[in-house]
Amino acid sequence: EGDRIEAPIYSPSYSSPEAIRKGLQAWQAALAQFDKAAHILEASGHPLKRGLIEFLRRPKRELIVNFPVQMDDGSIRMFTGYRVHHNAVRGPTKGGIRYHPDVTLEEVRALAMWMTWKCALVNIPYGGAKGGVAVDPNALSPRELERLTRRYATEISLLMHPGGDVPAPDVGTNPQIMAWIMDTYSMHTGFTQPAVVTGKPLEVGGTMGRVEATGRGVMMVVAEALKVNRIPIEQATLAIQGFGNVGSYAALTAHQMGAKVVAVSDVHGGVYHPKGLNIPQLVEHVRRHRTVVGFPEGEPISNAELLTLKVDVLIPAALENQITAENAPSIQARILAEGANGPTTPEADEILIEKGVFIVPDILCNAGGVIASYFEWVQDLQSFFWTEEEINSRMERILKRAFYEVLAKEEELRPYGLKRGDYRTAAQALAIWRVAQATLIRGIYP
Ligand code: GLU
Repeated sequence: EGDRIEAPIYSPSYSSPEAIRKGLQAWQAALAQFDKAAHILEASGHPLKRGLIEFLRRPKRELIVNFPVQMDDGSIRMFTGYRVHHNAVRGPTKGGIRYHPDVTLEEVRALAMWMTWKCALVNIPYGGAKGGVAVDPNALSPRELERLTRRYATEISLLMHPGGDVPAPDVGTNPQIMAWIMDTYSMHTGFTQPAVVTGKPLEVGGTMGRVEATGRGVMMVVAEALKVNRIPIEQATLAIQGFGNVGSYAALTAHQMGAKVVAVSDVHGGVYHPKGLNIPQLVEHVRRHRTVVGFPEGEPISNAELLTLKVDVLIPAALENQITAENAPSIQARILAEGANGPTTPEADEILIEKGVFIVPDILCNAGGVIASYFEWVQDLQSFFWTEEEINSRMERILKRAFYEVLAKEEELRPYGLKRGDYRTAAQALAIWRVAQATLIRGIYP
């Protein structure tokens, strides 16, 4: 019952069978995590009615858009995009837009559900959503990328609204793309509406600290996890999988905090230095060569080797399904801090909990991004902007509160069968309960 997939094997995604398989795997993982949390809520005397469980498991609405884009050579190419609203009970739906060749409806649905729990866990007034286009953004010219973005924004604009659904960046998208989305939406409505999307450049209603927020937030939470595990941050060693927006700013923040980042990787490969990499120099190398590979002050290391390094903190900051039943037994990190969404499969979770790995779950660990997005949206709505210090200190307060709430929840649920150290299920139980209560208080319409 628990791991039943409700999605049919048929997928409306125009994607490779491999992409569809991976997407279904993510959605199945999201459902398995939910069912585990609902089960422990029930065992602890907080049961959810069957129908409420079904409501929380299902996306509210899903939009598939197939649209043409004129390429620079004059040809026309078809693309498929998605926008999924998982749950809107606690407020406007919030979540990023992903540009990646393997984006599917099922993956977007899983990511949308995780956004619902993430926003509820850190207690910001949002529901969960996600969007995506199956495209390799690096294979397009800047003009093609703009045309694709404007057409996709137009196609999903019936679901977007500053008070209804507010997109943001995710894998493969950036502030410039958010600016095009804001401009497209504003052109349609006839006036400038900065609050319809977050992660924008500063010049057009973006906020201080948004670009750094996810990676910085990861390290704020890691700092607490290190304290709890009695590891001084100056002695801590870290390995980071992924050097995009999340991984690079996590690395820079770790470096500033005095921790040693011994390994980082990207899609092309990785670099390793047992004494710690010079992160500012590495960032400069990546700016020039668009990969960490070839960084002179380190030895090459594969992605697979990086994951099993003996470090204090392992930060997966790339895609889903990276830590699986196959490699989980070889994980040697003491703390697993999930910068990515859904990097650990449910099977791997069980193995890591048995091994005593301290898992900081995605919906807590990477919530700094959406928290800064929330601040950006609030500032846009009131047309009054805050300082970077204000952004960072408010964000830290929210993340710390959520971190210790999760720790308390884990203790509270242990007598009812929660495994020691299962912080993911504790976090999800806390979040799901909040959304369930909001649903019941609002009532079922009509
Ligand atoms: N894409 C980010 C996430 O997965 C940020 C979403 C947002 O800022 O709305 O949390």
